[in-house]
Amino acid sequence: MNGYPARAVVDLAAIRGNVASLVEHAPTAQVMAVVKADAYGHGLVPSACAAVEGGATWLGVAQVPEALALRAAGVTAPRVLTWLYAPGAPLREAVEADVDVSVAAPWALDEVVAAARAAGRTARVHLEVDTGLGRNGLTPAQLDDLLPTALRADAEGAAELVGLWSHLAFADEPAHPTVHAQAAVFASAVRKVESAGARLEVRHLANSAATLTAPDLHWDLVRPGIAVYGLSPVPQLGGPDAYGLVPAMTVEAELATVKPVPAGHGVSYAHQYVTPRSTVLGVVPLGYADGIPRHVSGTQDVPGAPVLVGGRRTAIAGRVCMDQVVLDLGPAAADVAGDRVELFGTGADGGPTAQDWADVAGTISYEIVTRIGARVPRVHVDTAADAAALERDEVGQHA
Ligand SMILES: *Cc1c(COP(=O)(O)O)cnc(C)c1O
Repeated sequence: MNGYPARAVVDLAAIRGNVASLVEHAPTAQVMAVVKADAYGHGLVPSACAAVEGGATWLGVAQVPEALALRAAGVTAPRVLTWLYAPGAPLREAVEADVDVSVAAPWALDEVVAAARAAGRTARVHLEVDTGLGRNGLTPAQLDDLLPTALRADAEGAAELVGLWSHLAFADEPAHPTVHAQAAVFASAVRKVESAGARLEVRHLANSAATLTAPDLHWDLVRPGIAVYGLSPVPQLGGPDAYGLVPAMTVEAELATVKPVPAGHGVSYAHQYVTPRSTVLGVVPLGYADGIPRHVSGTQDVPGAPVLVGGRRTAIAGRVCMDQVVLDLGPAAADVAGDRVELFGTGADGGPTAQDWADVAGTISYEIVTRIGARVPRVHVDTAADAAALERDEVGQHA
């Protein structure tokens, strides 16, 4: 495939099915599939299209160019929201491309209004309130100050106030007291904006974790990201299958070389791993430049990230290098160069998952999938279409 000995295989049927599950989890809200950061590393446009097929009526991205890329690729039907930009962003292009824009600061409202005037169109604006996350968003006091200007822009037809939204600090700990505190601040911001005369189309607060665990926070629209890709936002509460999700990305590679070595042989830089017995080493042509965290290196005492080779699990041995990692395949290994190694995937057949990798690396599954490097080809498959084709073939053979 492409002549490259590794790839991230993305199952579009999984993305479709995950969004369908999210639609069921939030029956009273619309679903915005968050496809920022190249759809969490899964490939922006194919993933966005699969999410829309699964029932998403909105797509969410961080940066303005991500939104423009969706429209340029012909993704025209769903509403698209962009929420993170600095002064000078291409907001006129966003307005012309029918992209909704978030406003998180007074200067941003000025720039959106100027962009709308330049475009000769009404901008669709979502005001972001910082209800306690302490990140982007208008503080309640800033919202008070900005609201009259925003309502004037709305009355003049420059910027329609269609949304009010916020983001939670502890959504992945549903019982954390800040969740309810933020929800209360949000509800009061909604009341303030609506009683000032805005007719909000969508009020939104919930990311994946809140979509799955806090139905009272769904409001009109939920904004799941990680769950779209089949990973659990709350691994301490339940894995993907507990929420009707299937991991969409499988990272696999071919073994580049396989060779026997004696006991006591140092493996990879700084010999952080030394073979405890005579064994067979296998080289996997993926390294930290491909997004394999250096933190999943292994020693004899602490195994590195788990992988699946020939149906059995082993772990990364020694330091993760820029382009490659080494596996200790064991003394009896019959693996040969070209054999498939699964680094992480659905977890079926005893294979490791991105969550397993996150646990070894001391991070979250989000970071594992989003960091898979640009050098690694994304290969999009559709297991549902493959299954249907297989069924047609079988029916054909029997006919
Ligand atoms: C990334 C992001 C989301 C999605 O978060 P998940 O935890 O992946 O569901 C939702 N809203 C905002 C503002 C985000 O930045």
